[in-house]
Amino acid sequence: MNDDTPDSTQELADVLQDVRRHLLWQEETAGRSLLVDAKVAAELQQQRAAASSVRTMIARTKAPEPPAASPPPRPPVESPTRDALHAAMKQPLGAARPLAAATPPPAASRPLASEAPAPRAAPAPGMLLDVPKSTPRYNGALPGVVEGERPTLDQIRRELGDCRRCKLCTGRKNIVFGSGNPRADLVFVGEGPGENEDLQGVPFVGAAGDLLTKMIGAMGFSRNDVYIANVVKCRPPGNRNPEPDEIAACEPFLRSQLLALQPKVIVALGKFAAQTLLRDTTPITRMRGQWREYEGIQLMPTFHPAYLLRNSAEKRKAWEDLQQVMKLFGKHPGSGA
Ligand code: SF4
Repeated sequence: MNDDTPDSTQELADVLQDVRRHLLWQEETAGRSLLVDAKVAAELQQQRAAASSVRTMIARTKAPEPPAASPPPRPPVESPTRDALHAAMKQPLGAARPLAAATPPPAASRPLASEAPAPRAAPAPGMLLDVPKSTPRYNGALPGVVEGERPTLDQIRRELGDCRRCKLCTGRKNIVFGSGNPRADLVFVGEGPGENEDLQGVPFVGAAGDLLTKMIGAMGFSRNDVYIANVVKCRPPGNRNPEPDEIAACEPFLRSQLLALQPKVIVALGKFAAQTLLRDTTPITRMRGQWREYEGIQLMPTFHPAYLLRNSAEKRKAWEDLQQVMKLFGKHPGSGA
């Protein structure tokens, strides 16, 4: 059968016409697509430019970096979210504002240079000249003293009792505890009882005691105004010097007495009193006349009256020392003792 009929020819012509129209449509479509892509590219370019402007603004709103040498710890800076960036990109460039996360602190919260603490003024030369040389504190237990309480002299005397704490107890006739005003501002501390003191049970009643009484009077006081005690309270045999173990056994009672009295000034008579209270082995010839401090109390070392009886030329020095004490009490020196 032959297919080359007029109908077949018409059909073929129609198909060719369709193919031509399709090609023309493809051509038109391709051109329009290129036009659409160019428009999209232009919009994308604008968006990229807007994004770049936003990033520049964010960088400007960040706090300035601290010096690299000592970076202080900084709180973490919260990054702007994608939505925030997107919202910023949507804004006109002139209306764009810094993001809240990068907002700097208000100026009032930062220290001003004028508010910086002023440097401490250096102490004026010579300010410390009048402060006495301090003494190491006594760390031993004090007899008759309840911790944190001020004892009385009676409590300490009862604690001392018929003391047998050292070998001086064997030769004594009386314990010489001390005498005078229990509220005295001025206390004299000697070495230990002599023969007369041992017999009477009262400190400084022999020849040395007489001289001390004159010295006290010359200072403008009486024995009833002051208190007098010794380092050891029993007489060393033959008036020898007290030995270290004897001083160690008896010294705590003297310290308890001074805690009870709490005077303004202590006058240490001789090397045993000064060296024991101050824990200082410096000779009395070098310590005397120099203000020291005992447990917060002003202390003046000077010669023992018994030494002055043997060395009368030294009385002038002792008087000079006592004059310093008088000045502290506001008294005016008269003639010597
Ligand atoms: S000198 Fe002092 S410690 Fe020694 S027996 Fe006399 S009171 Fe006691």
